[in-house]
Amino acid sequence: MLTSLKDKSVIVTGGSKGIGRGIATIFARQGAKVTIVARNEAELKAAAKEIEGNVRHAVCDVSDWDSVKTMVDDTAEAQGGVDVVCANAGAFPQTKIVEMDPSEWDGVMATNLKSSFLCVKAAIPHFEKAGKGRVVLTSSITGPVTGFPGWSHYGASKAGQLGFLKTAAMELSRYNTTINAVMPGNIYTEGLQGLGQEYLDTMAASIPLKRLGDVEDIGNAALFFASDEAAYITGQQIVVDGGQIIPESLEALEEI
Ligand code: NAP
Repeated sequence: MLTSLKDKSVIVTGGSKGIGRGIATIFARQGAKVTIVARNEAELKAAAKEIEGNVRHAVCDVSDWDSVKTMVDDTAEAQGGVDVVCANAGAFPQTKIVEMDPSEWDGVMATNLKSSFLCVKAAIPHFEKAGKGRVVLTSSITGPVTGFPGWSHYGASKAGQLGFLKTAAMELSRYNTTINAVMPGNIYTEGLQGLGQEYLDTMAASIPLKRLGDVEDIGNAALFFASDEAAYITGQQIVVDGGQIIPESLEALEEI
């Protein structure tokens, strides 16, 4: 049993659906005060209503500094500070390099990588004031560990988050704040459903635990990093993928 996160002030970007919603659900269940963040207000409102617990919403584009700073400062005002930031929002358009417009590359970098920097930067004054804090990034196995045609920009952004993590861990230590990353495998979300049933079936078959992950599987890992029990862990990452990156070959999977 982890020490309670009751009444902690938590921000979850990308909290209107998918993994972010799973993370928000897990924290809200613990009694935390949770702000879910996304661009689509109607979806945010619906999610804030549906997730059980103390959940508010904030419209924000995580790739835009003014938007992120306003969202973090407003949340601090509304929730009495900021204890935990889960920088989770991300996008994964699938386009091969030969067909990719450079603007698509920039957009993915801004949404997935620059956003991590912006969220941390905006939260620092609040961590400094509180004398402590926690950041959990949602990275991926794609990029740092694996590759998949069409996701060169996505993979680079997700590996980039882990590069950012190392130095951020050092700089945040002065505010008694830790930063760690969860690296999901294939998690059943609205975004992943958009890739089609064939993709989902093939993926599930290539995972030793023979299923896609659940959003709450990622929420539980984020909860651990945010807990008192993880106070001495920083600059680290954990793969949550049902064993997906382990098999050496298709034959190895058939041996199970
Ligand atoms: P999803 O179902 O598509 O949800 C994405 C969330 O991010 C939505 O709430 C979306 O809301 C928000 N978002 C996107 N761009 C944003 C922006 N510029 N500003 C603010 N919010 C934004 O995605 P998901 O599958 O849950 O993925 C969430 C994270 O997990 C991503 O970082 C992704 O890379 C990572 N991940 C996912 C998987 C997987 O299998 N699903 C695996 C590895 C890593 P709006 O569109 O309304 O803004």
